[in-house]
This record gives sequence, C-alpha cells and structure tokens, in this order.
Amino acid sequence: MKEDTAIIFSDGLSEYDFGEGHPFRGNRYDIFKKFFREFFHTEGRYDLLETEPATDQELLKICSKEYIDFTRNFFNTAGSSVRLTGNFSRYHSGDNIPREHHGKLEEAARLIIGQAKQACDLVSGGEYTKVISIGGGLHHAKPNYGEGFCLYNDVAFCGRYLLQEHGLSRILIIDTDAHAGNGTCEYFYDNPEVLFIDLHQDPYTLYPGTGFSHEIGKGMGTGYTINLPMPPYSDLKAYEYVFEKVVEPVVKEFDPQIIIRNGGSDPHYGDILTNLGLKLDGLYMLGKNVSELSSICDGKVVDLVASGYNMDVLPYGWLALIEGLLGYELSVEEPLLDISFPRVDGSQDNAIKMVNQVREILKPYWKCFSGD
Ligand SMILES: [Zn+2]
Repeated sequence: MKEDTAIIFSDGLSEYDFGEGHPFRGNRYDIFKKFFREFFHTEGRYDLLETEPATDQELLKICSKEYIDFTRNFFNTAGSSVRLTGNFSRYHSGDNIPREHHGKLEEAARLIIGQAKQACDLVSGGEYTKVISIGGGLHHAKPNYGEGFCLYNDVAFCGRYLLQEHGLSRILIIDTDAHAGNGTCEYFYDNPEVLFIDLHQDPYTLYPGTGFSHEIGKGMGTGYTINLPMPPYSDLKAYEYVFEKVVEPVVKEFDPQIIIRNGGSDPHYGDILTNLGLKLDGLYMLGKNVSELSSICDGKVVDLVASGYNMDVLPYGWLALIEGLLGYELSVEEPLLDISFPRVDGSQDNAIKMVNQVREILKPYWKCFSGD
C-alpha cells in the first residue's frame, strides 16, 4: 500500500557546508539521519525519497541569470581558500562566505530547490498529502542577493512554482524559524495570492532586523504579509496564544489550497544563535498546529526543515516538528543541556500586547479581526 507521507532526504545535502567554524555545517544532516533511524519508530509508514538538483531554467523562477552565474562560479571555484572578488558583496552578504573545508554549496543549494519542486509536485498532484524536505527553508535568500547562510530560496520557489506551474491562487506560507524570513517576504510582498505568516524573534533583538508588525505588504498584497515578532524567551503558552488569536482565524478566512511551512529547531531555548523559549513540546506543537490547520486544504503540507545551531538540540527539535506534523506521539525526551531554561517574567504579557497590536493593524484587511 502506498504511504500518505514522504520525506525527501537527498544524499548530497551534507555538501551544504560553509566550513570550519561557521554555524552552518553539513554534518547536521548526518547527525539527523543517524538519530532519525534510531528514534523514529515508524518504519514503513512513510516513503523516503531522493531527488535531482534544480536546473538553471528552474532557478530562473526565483533569481536572475547573473546571480545564478555568479553564485555557481564563485562557490564552485572557491576551493579551500576563498578568494573574494569585488562582485561578492554585490551578490552575497559576509555570512555566506565559505571557510576552510567547506562543501559543494552551490550544488547542494540546487538539490534543495530540486527537493522543493518534487515536494510541490507530489503534494499538489495528490500523490502524498504531506511531504517533508529535509534541508529546506532557506528563507533569507532574496531574488538576487544571498544572505543568512542561504543561496537559493526554496520557500519562495515553492510559492512561485505552485502559482505558475500548478495554477494555484491561494497559497499559505507559515515561517516558524526563529529568524524573520526576509527573503521570502520580499518575493510575495505585493501578492495577495500568497499569505505569508511569519513567527520569529522580535527583530529588534535578532538578525535580520526586519519583520516588524507594521510590515504588512504593499499594493494588492497589503494585509497578506503578517509578521508576528515574538518577544525574547517566548514560550509554549505565548506561541499557542499567537496561533489561537491570529494564525488560526486568518488562515480559516484565507482558505488556502496548500500550506508551505518552514523552520527547524532554532526557536528552542538551547539554540546558540537565538533567544526564544520553546522546548520540544513547543516545537511539537508547531507541527501539530500546522497539521490541524491543513484540514482546511485536504491535509496538504509541504514542510521544509533545516535550521538550528545547537547540535545537541537539532535532531530532537526536527523530530519533534515532524512527529507533530505527522500526528505521532512525541517520542523523545527533552535533551539535557548546559544552558538552563530561561525564566523571564513578562514574555507572555508582551506576546499578548504584540498580538493586540497585530490584530489592530490588520483589522481593515481581515473580517476575523473586525470585531476587535
Ligand atoms: Zn533561523
């Protein structure tokens, strides 16, 4: 019998590796594969797939030929010692500079776009209801500018591809990564066919410094970008409140045909680059809530998972997200960490204030908020 769920996990992903000392190493995929085999006790209830890298033609959906040519040439010839040309800063930020012993980044970035394409074809085409792309969610990449460890934006690719090739007109993107999805936001800022809901740590306190609640889209797309800047140390209760008061009512009113979710383990309190306050039950809740929302669109979800910067948390966090999404019990216990759980008064009150502000700003665009 054919399964309902597929996980795309291509072998070449480990090449998405910025090298020694960089926060984004390719070993995350090896660590997760080992952990996944050991703890995900559902052998045979999903199909495990591999895919082909995206072609230039496919990449042109999300960026220009000049950007693709520069990115391919630079990352393929960088070798072990990187020689920066004057053009680098025109196309990429400093945090995308590969270090010693980096992997074949551009090839792996194409593979991630290939996975996104396959995931969209399989879910939109009805072969599976939920497809998870491990390695996906490179949400900082902009049309012609790579940043935040992201070369090509697979979240944006999903949106564009589903609009253009599958003829969809109501696509929901939920970004639960701790950082704001500034790249994805830019792609769809004026487009009412893509509702972009982004839950991230308050941009006053974290890269990329955008994603404020007053950024709500422009032109025809006004009201279709919803930024939810979570106060530092926001916990399970704060996130649940945001889902209940903003995400659920808006998604019901929008009535999406498919959901694309992205984000890995970096909202966990133990992450070394961020300051949020979720534990595994919080990440599990994110997956579960997305799964429940997907009943609106026959269960259709493309799920993109890659981020996380504490390797003692990452495999646990990814598994919690996946188990929540697929409707399994949470099978792993909270990892024991050197970092203690933050006890900060006021983060829930601040989340309530933020939610009230967002509902007020969006009132003219959504009936569900008009009674406020
Ligand atoms: Zn992130």
